[in-house]
This record gives sequence, structure tokens and C-alpha cells, in this order.
Amino acid sequence: MKRDYYEVLGVPRTATEEEIKKAYRKLAFQYHPDRNPGNKEAEEKFKEAAEAYEVLRDPEKRRLYDLYGHEGLRRSGYEGFHSHQDIFSSFGDIFEEFFRNFGFETRARTSARTGNDLLYKLKITFEEAVLGTEKEIEIYTYVACDKCGGNGASPGTHEVTCPSCNGHGQVYQTRGFFRIGTTCPRCKGSGRILRSPCSACGGEGRVERTKRLNIRIPAGVDTGMRIRVKGEGEWGYRGGQPGDLYVQVEVEPHDFFERDGTTLYVKVPIHFAEAILGADIQVPTMEGPETIRLEPGTPPGYVVRLPGRGVPDPRSGRRGDLLVEISVEIPQHITKRQRELLEEFLKIDREKNDKKQKRWFWSKNRAEEKTASAK
Ligand SMILES: [Zn+2]
Ligand SMILES: [Zn+2]
Repeated sequence: MKRDYYEVLGVPRTATEEEIKKAYRKLAFQYHPDRNPGNKEAEEKFKEAAEAYEVLRDPEKRRLYDLYGHEGLRRSGYEGFHSHQDIFSSFGDIFEEFFRNFGFETRARTSARTGNDLLYKLKITFEEAVLGTEKEIEIYTYVACDKCGGNGASPGTHEVTCPSCNGHGQVYQTRGFFRIGTTCPRCKGSGRILRSPCSACGGEGRVERTKRLNIRIPAGVDTGMRIRVKGEGEWGYRGGQPGDLYVQVEVEPHDFFERDGTTLYVKVPIHFAEAILGADIQVPTMEGPETIRLEPGTPPGYVVRLPGRGVPDPRSGRRGDLLVEISVEIPQHITKRQRELLEEFLKIDREKNDKKQKRWFWSKNRAEEKTASAK
């Protein structure tokens, strides 16, 4: 059963509009959800009081209620409130007023809006990604208006409460017992307007312009990584917070180097004679050429690890390793003299191998003889 509205507000049936408002204000403050977090009973009381006030403040609804009670309102289609938000948007002035009186901070209303974040795609070379760099970029975006300093009001003026909606951001039309709320066309729902908009930006507080920025690219970034530059996105509307700028990196491939995370790879070709004889060879690193020693008899595909010469981790700064893979080159064209020498080389190698093979046969035959005699 619904309680009697006069009883809810604790006022007599003869109460004036002012008495009703005062009674409601007291109850709304007592049962306000911000002061009673998680208290279901208080929440119910808060809604009940709002509903009673919504009816009794309105002469037409009050008359209907006095004549026919709750049933009379229900038949005329009055539904009451669905949420706290409904209550606040309907009685915003009361809340603002009494919260100020009781020293509560009311949320300062303003028409400001945060600017959008921006995404900038930046192509850098492989070396720049590994070693880090600084790049100047140009972006066409909203920047703060010089004339008004970014708040959109002409110098010496400021925002005022929208007179069309009294700062609620919504305007209401009453049709019978229905109240229909729509966004206020004058302030576009913000509840605030500029009495005198800045002439340079038309009240936006921002203008579109090309701006230049120096972006520090940390060593070790890879394709797809994003660098966040706080506050360098679009300037906020009417003094709102600026958005952020995200610089998304694309790394160009390198002619020799490849990478996988923090590991760097490079393939170094050597002469087949160097592989056989051993050699000091020059290998490329990100810091320039470096000499490493190969032992005689280095096989193709042999990998030399240079610790700490790879790619740094952009967060920790710790560097990975450089892996140098040795590939052995076979000459395609040789002179007559080279052929003679290689044939001589081959001949000696075959003689060596023949002897080795004979030894192997001999020992194999001996082993078979042994097995045979053992039977
Ligand atoms: Zn301006
Ligand atoms: Zn308005």
C-alpha cells in the first residue's frame, strides 16, 4: 500500500507550496543516497518523498490526488520516478540550493568537454627503432584559442546558467499529466551558456591548426607499439581537458638485420677457405663493424652469440643478444690455377680418406672374425 503523500512529507492537507517544498527539502537531505550509501530503507524513503513532492508541488496533480487519491493519479497515467537520476534532473535546483547551504560541494556544472585522443602513424628506420631517436611531427588538430585562452568566453566574461532550462540541461513540456523532457536546445544539455562568446573561436575555446611536436622514440620500439603523449591530443571544448596523442610506430625492414623481440640476427658470408683455416672476420653490429675470431673448421650455419649487442627492451632498457650466423660461400667462377690447386687438394684429401677407410674395413673384418670364432 502506498502511504499518503501528506503523511510522507509530514505536512497538513492545507500546507502551502512553500511548506511542502521546505518539508521535502528536509527529507531529501536526510535520506540523500550520498549520505546513506547502501541503505535500502533510506533509498526507499528518498524516492517516496520525491514522489510525494512531485505530486503535491503541481497544483493540477495535487487537485487530482486530493479528489481521487493514488488511484486518480494512476488512471491519468502518472508513473512517478524510475531512478535517482530522474529525481535529480527534476529537482536539481533544490539539491544545488540545499547542498550549498549545508556546505556540500555541488558538482560544478560547465559546458566543457574533453578533447578527443589522436592517433599518429610514424614510420621509422630499423636503426632508429633499435637505438632510439627523436622525431619532429606535424599534426593538424584543435589547439587552444589564443584570444580567450581556451575557455571560449570573450575576455572578462564567463559562463552563466542557461536561462532557458535554469541549468538543468533539459526542458519540460507538460501535456495533461505527462511531463516530457528534452535536451535544452539553447545550451545543448550542459546547463551553461556563454553570454559573450569569444570572437576568434566562436565560443569553442579552440581552433584548428597545424602544430609541431618533438616525439622521443625510446630505443627498442617495434612495429605496432604505441607511445602515449599525454595532453597532446585535441584541445578540449570550452576549456575541457585535452585528449592524448598516441604515436603508433611502423619500423622499416633492414637490408641485413632482422629482429625477434630483443634478439637481433645477421647472416655473414665467409670464404670456404676461411671456414677451413679459421679467420678473424668483420661482422656488422648496430654500433658498427666488429671483429670476431673463427676457429679452423667452422661449419656452415655456425652461430656466434654476441651478448648484449641486440635490441633493448623499451621498458627495462635491458638489451638482448646479437646472433651472427656464418654462411660459407662457394665460388662460382675459378681460374685454371685455382682448379689445379683444388684438384691437388681433393687428391690429398681422398688419399687421407682411403687410408681411413682401409683402417675401418680392417677393424670391421677383425671384429667379424672374432664373432665367428666365438661360435
Ligand atoms: Zn577564443
Ligand atoms: Zn539550457
